[in-house]
Amino acid sequence: MNGNHEFMRRSLAAVWHPCTQMKSHERVPLVPIRRGEGAWLEDFDGRRYLDAISSWWVNLFGHCNPRINAALQDQLARIEHLMLAGFTHEPVVQLSERLAALTGGTLGHCFYASDGASATEIALKMSVHYWRNSGRPGKDGFLAIEDGYHGETLGALSVTDVPLFREAYATLLRPAHTLPSPDWRRAQPGERAQDFALRQAGALEAHLERHHARTAALIVEPLVQCAAGMAMHHPAWLRRARELCDRFEVHLIADEIAVGCGRTGTFFAHEQAHIRPDFLCLSKGISGGYLPLSTVLTTDRVYEAFYSDDSARAFLHSHSYTGNALACRAALATLDIFEQDDVLAANRARAASLSAACAALRAHPRVRHFRQCGMILAFDVADAPAGFARRYAQEAMARGILLRPIADCVYFMPPYVVDDDQIALLAKAAFAALDATLEG
Ligand SMILES: *Cc1c(COP(=O)(O)O)cnc(C)c1O
Repeated sequence: MNGNHEFMRRSLAAVWHPCTQMKSHERVPLVPIRRGEGAWLEDFDGRRYLDAISSWWVNLFGHCNPRINAALQDQLARIEHLMLAGFTHEPVVQLSERLAALTGGTLGHCFYASDGASATEIALKMSVHYWRNSGRPGKDGFLAIEDGYHGETLGALSVTDVPLFREAYATLLRPAHTLPSPDWRRAQPGERAQDFALRQAGALEAHLERHHARTAALIVEPLVQCAAGMAMHHPAWLRRARELCDRFEVHLIADEIAVGCGRTGTFFAHEQAHIRPDFLCLSKGISGGYLPLSTVLTTDRVYEAFYSDDSARAFLHSHSYTGNALACRAALATLDIFEQDDVLAANRARAASLSAACAALRAHPRVRHFRQCGMILAFDVADAPAGFARRYAQEAMARGILLRPIADCVYFMPPYVVDDDQIALLAKAAFAALDATLEG
């Protein structure tokens, strides 16, 4: 009679869920999902939830998208996977060519892995190895930004500034230098976001003046530090960072795992600063949210530093599923949809609808720092009570909306298929959930 309950019980007995204190499920139910369609998820009792956070920021064109499904079915009849050392296949070649073209040909070499953290690891290793191959083995330090998030494997965690995720493993990490955040919420009253960004970049300049000879790379999340609670900065910070990295010969790694693939309004977030990184990390949305896939794109210059008769100069990193054919094919189908539907243009209208629908929320007396960057909309809740995020999520679920605040930050990051009716529902339910959480 109660399908959800039965599956929840079995899952809790056998599955160790990610990013979860399992004991919290004594109070908070787990939600078994039976199927999805478009922006909707449906549980085992037939209840529907609007996936307003794109299933942890990965889904772009809805669940069970007919076009991506068809591409995968076609691919299944050809080849599902093969090793990418010594072999190659059509989807990985096409995907690499198309991604390179999207960077205007500046990042023409794609290295593949399966998840975002591995992409971070690859970019960090490649950068250090580049300097070593270039006769500068002392350049092996990393710079990262306050509250930044780049994944949770040990290398990625060492450039991640989230104490809750780091503390237990502190002795395993090689610390990076952390730069002050350019998040505009920290600007002085009356100070423009752009001026604040440039002021904060002063710390980068000061650090590089002293330590450039020991610094391999700066890693950044362009425009929006999502895991920090949708912390947004002005593109002027990125422009200045690019100038400084050029001046002091330090790589710029753009971690666009969350903000790439159209999320901020341009296909890549760094385009809004009119710069190119030395390494570009993509994952999450790249496969449309279908299959684990990540890639690191880099320049001819980096690639050539590894090109040699000496295998010790090669980038010997690998993962068993590197360049998985099904995942690459899902990514190709995703890029097809971007082109065929002119998604970036459609998203401009969609983002404007989202903003308009949130007028009441924006005026709510407890809402602060209402902000938007393309298809990311966020606000902070003033004087949020203890346990706010969990309780808000439950109130939203009770209203048929999947939302997962980060501390006191409520954000919407819907797939690029939400229509005006769904947007209206989302805004209304988010408002009601806010009042219910604050009253309760
Ligand atoms: C999610 C995320 C990662 C890590 O990706 P995983 O696939 O979860 O390992 C890295 N960087 C950013 C900016 C992310 O949002």
